[in-house]
Amino acid sequence: MKIAKRLDKIPPYLFVEISKKIAEKKSQGIEIINFGIGDPDLPTPNTVITELQKTSLNISNHRYPETDGLPEFRTAIQKWYQNRFNLSFNPETEILPLIGAKEGIGHTAFCFIDNGDIALIPDPGYPVYSVGTWFAGGECYTMPLTEDNQWLPDLDAIPKEIAQKAKVMWLNYPNNPTSAIADIEYFKRVVDFAKKYEIIILHDACYTEVSYDGYQPISFMETPGAKDISLEFHSLSKSYNMTGWRVGYVVGNSKLINPLMIVKSNLDSGIPQAIQSMAITALNTKQEFIDKRNSIYEKRRDKVVGALNSIGLNVEKPKASLYIWAKIPNGFTSAEYATKLLDEKDIVVTPGSGYGEYGEGYIRLSLTIPDEQLDKGINKLIN
Ligand SMILES: *Cc1c(COP(=O)(O)O)cnc(C)c1O
Repeated sequence: MKIAKRLDKIPPYLFVEISKKIAEKKSQGIEIINFGIGDPDLPTPNTVITELQKTSLNISNHRYPETDGLPEFRTAIQKWYQNRFNLSFNPETEILPLIGAKEGIGHTAFCFIDNGDIALIPDPGYPVYSVGTWFAGGECYTMPLTEDNQWLPDLDAIPKEIAQKAKVMWLNYPNNPTSAIADIEYFKRVVDFAKKYEIIILHDACYTEVSYDGYQPISFMETPGAKDISLEFHSLSKSYNMTGWRVGYVVGNSKLINPLMIVKSNLDSGIPQAIQSMAITALNTKQEFIDKRNSIYEKRRDKVVGALNSIGLNVEKPKASLYIWAKIPNGFTSAEYATKLLDEKDIVVTPGSGYGEYGEGYIRLSLTIPDEQLDKGINKLIN
């Protein structure tokens, strides 16, 4: 039996060593505090769960959904965008529901990447951009995100031959794992670059609703001309604490939405309709829910940043996303430093190298831990 070569490209699971150590410690009865996982601990809004209870009883929801989703869901997305960003998308042609943003991001590579085609990929970055590219037979050109460039790809550093050949560019702001944000000036330069070289911009906007200190993240689609050349991915996962329900969506140019619709209709059969009803309810949830939730994350952010600074890791408070991206002391790789924190403090963090070679030298801590656990973790960290 032979496994397809495309699977060889997937990097080895970084957590093997750490997972073993966690299991060992747990078997000795030691409590481990896990800052490694970006998965909201806070519950899905009650109204959303009630909607599932109700709609699960409706027999029409027991049958195959349509790939393009319920018209009511697409309309709810249209209204949400209108309210939140004052942008208008046609629910028939410019909006497509997804089985979570991850599904859409992965399948999007099959729409635009043929054998040998180039995708411009931020590094460090969410791994699905590059894995999707490889699965489709493409090549990744790395755009380094560094402190010097404020974690925004330096467009001028991309060689002309590469830019001319590239089919797509992936971007993600607010960013995972660096928690960086982008402003409209940067997005304008991206649109100019994309138009000059005929590159499709694929913007992962999963964290637009997780922000602090009154900051409101922007949509790439607010940039003049963006809709001509781009898609923007959203997820209910981080916005409404709904990772377990698997629902997201993409908006953008109908010429780019259509190929994704074709790929998806041949590979999946849409989102369970009762879950689409949950998503509609979530999108209609009062802003108050988001504000309250973000204020919980904000308190955690302040505690974690304070603790890291007190042990000599200099980090600034991020304005958005669920993550603290911290530079580690010289003399360690990020995997070594993560192992040291586990050995000495019983704390799990993610080594930055798990997000690409430019993540080396950093660790990521997630704010999705219940407060009591977080406090314990902080005590362990500073003592
Ligand atoms: C969590 C996350 C996703 C995945 O969202 P789902 O809708 O749960 O699939 C996509 N992109 C980034 C950057 C994420 O952090």
